[in-house]
Amino acid sequence: MSVDISSGLVARNLIDGHVTGHGPRGEITNPAKLDEVVGEVIYSSAEDVSAAVTSAAHAGAAWARTPLARRCELVGAAAKLVAQAAVDASLPELLTREQGKILPESELDIALMSMLTEYCVAVAEEALAEQHLTDQAGTRILFRKPVGVVAAITPWNWPVVLSAAKIVPALICGNTMVLKPAPNTPLAVTAVVQAMASALPDGVLNLVHGAAEIGNILTSHPGVRKVAFTGSIATGADIMRAASSTIKNITLELGGNDAAIVLDDAVVDDQLGEALATAAFATSGQVCMAIKRLYVHQNRYTDVIESVAAALDRISVGDGRDPRSGMGPLNNRAQFDRVNALVSEARQAGASVHEYGAVLDHSGWNNGYFIRPTLVTGIDESARLVSEEQFGPALPIMPFAEERDAVERANGSEYGLSASVWSSDEDRAFALGRELEAGATYVNAHGLKAFDLSCPGGGMKQSGIGREFGLDGIRAYTETAYITNRRQ
Ligand code: ADP
Repeated sequence: MSVDISSGLVARNLIDGHVTGHGPRGEITNPAKLDEVVGEVIYSSAEDVSAAVTSAAHAGAAWARTPLARRCELVGAAAKLVAQAAVDASLPELLTREQGKILPESELDIALMSMLTEYCVAVAEEALAEQHLTDQAGTRILFRKPVGVVAAITPWNWPVVLSAAKIVPALICGNTMVLKPAPNTPLAVTAVVQAMASALPDGVLNLVHGAAEIGNILTSHPGVRKVAFTGSIATGADIMRAASSTIKNITLELGGNDAAIVLDDAVVDDQLGEALATAAFATSGQVCMAIKRLYVHQNRYTDVIESVAAALDRISVGDGRDPRSGMGPLNNRAQFDRVNALVSEARQAGASVHEYGAVLDHSGWNNGYFIRPTLVTGIDESARLVSEEQFGPALPIMPFAEERDAVERANGSEYGLSASVWSSDEDRAFALGRELEAGATYVNAHGLKAFDLSCPGGGMKQSGIGREFGLDGIRAYTETAYITNRRQ
């Protein structure tokens, strides 16, 4: 199968190596320019989903028998085709046009796929190594088997790497897959999947399109053995219900309401302001592991606000394709409305709302889902902007007097994705960091800049189940099994 670059503009099914789909269509519009149609998605039918699962199941037996080294070679070759398509088909630009984020972020979203593949290929043998244990009573061989057909459901903020985080380890472990990307950012992922599939046996990697209904049909399909999902907590709960019908294995990467704690000994300078601003406002705040609540020791409160504000004032907000843009629009209407609602609710309750940054194109401002980077002070802990995940460019900053109190407030949440501690004393920060209820705690860093694909990422509490990336993120696509002749 060859890579049809133009097909990236019409997202269709990929089932058993064939591009199909003639169902209802949806338009993909540019969130920075609402009158610009970027492409179309052809929604899959229930029959398409079944055909995709059947195709994955048929391909599964031979793929699972393919030696690990050969699977790594093929997935490596598939990732190289993606890197090539990124250049040939200007995939980062396509991604920015459908998603809204700035071009360097789209470039990174796609480049991370190659980096993740290199990492997984390098550590696959270690991750999947068998253990042979022999003693007088006999032998035990502990080994890993693929789970089977995996359904992957991915979101619209970082669509390529969050798809890659499922495709690459799942396939390397010998599973086959049906992927459903978010219906508002299907185009770059379709191009990526088509490029990858052209290097793989037919049916190993399949693609369907649609929203909740098709997602539900896929995640409840009896032929699917595992569901890997990144998205909201509410949808995660729906997926758990759907997966429960046939006791499927699940990995859920859900939201975060990450707290960052700036201690009284932090060095407050431009660098700190820049680091906090980037960690909270990258992709217009639409990142699971972004700072969503900032707690600052009262002695540094004013200084920290000033340094973050200065960094935000250096940002120009505009079309993500414009090299001057430091922040693009929000991806979709629902998210835009929600962030605006949370901010006005806080304002009405007496909080102070401060907007920063330059507007690149005043005449086009209302033709996109633009919001300037916003800091909210004087806000009550009970405000929804603090207690819920805003997933947008509006950050509440709260003072604290006692370290203990900051930890309690940071932990007083049903979320537990990531967190950070900022201090000039790393030992102190590491000690405090252990007390935070988060899958990852960063010291003097947070968010995308701190992302490490060799570490297992994921959430505690309602932020998820299971881990992606690192060795755990590979092993998540296996069942541990053993054979033994041991008797006693
Ligand atoms: P958002 O609300 O921001 O769109 P979601 O968590 O709903 O975030 O979406 C993430 C992904 O989950 C998307 O691909 C979406 O189509 C899919 N999805 C939404 N609802 C369901 C569902 N009930 N079952 C399976 N997938 C779903």
